[in-house]
Amino acid sequence: MRTPIIAGNWKMNMTLAEAVALVRELKPLVADAKCQVVVCPPYICLHAVAEEIKGTNIALGAQNIHWADKGAFTGEISAPMLKAIGVQYAIIGHSERRQYFGETDERVRDRAANALAHGIIPIICVGESLEQRENGVTDAVVTVQTVAALKDFSPADVEKVVIAYEPIWAIGTGKTATNAEANETIGVVRNAIAGVYGKELANKVRIQYGGSMNAKNASALMAMPEIDGGLIGGASLKAEDFSKVVNF
Ligand code: PEP
Repeated sequence: MRTPIIAGNWKMNMTLAEAVALVRELKPLVADAKCQVVVCPPYICLHAVAEEIKGTNIALGAQNIHWADKGAFTGEISAPMLKAIGVQYAIIGHSERRQYFGETDERVRDRAANALAHGIIPIICVGESLEQRENGVTDAVVTVQTVAALKDFSPADVEKVVIAYEPIWAIGTGKTATNAEANETIGVVRNAIAGVYGKELANKVRIQYGGSMNAKNASALMAMPEIDGGLIGGASLKAEDFSKVVNF
């Protein structure tokens, strides 16, 4: 059985005070959640949020992680720094990073490897553009991204990772993949893992859906057999909305 995991990606939103207020409001609303709850605030808010969620069922995630432990990488944040303040998860290879910051499959792989080396679980994002879906290459795109992101990982590490299947055309647009589309493509991602690591291991990997998931559509998406959780953008910025997704 795979424990569902629902993570809020706050992106570049929330001042320090707003972040603390949001998570303070969220705590009692998700206290009985049946899934793993994760919040991913901006770096600058991580420490304060870590203090605020101590002793709760909410885990802390970062929105990225560097591939090196330290060094001359101005403006970057490393896994040891994040680990030291209690970060347990890190979103890697989000489509916004791929689109605006030149993130490549190789770098995604290196960042995820470094997260794992420091005991941080990567939430690795894969997903096709609208053009790719219309051209019928969705399966090929997510397969290539998935295999590249896990290149040379040990089976033990693969078992720990979380993959987020996020069709780019559904992110922040209000357009959700249908339950069937999301389920089917997540099945393709799982097959890609099975192709390298075998079915048994692939069946243990948690694969989330992401893309305009909200209080209204969460329970139907979560009822699909391949969908093990959600990566939530817009709907994670209000405690009540996010709690409804978490308590699907
Ligand atoms: C995301 O950015 O990962 C995301 C799924 O955003 P939204 O829920 O706003 O579509």
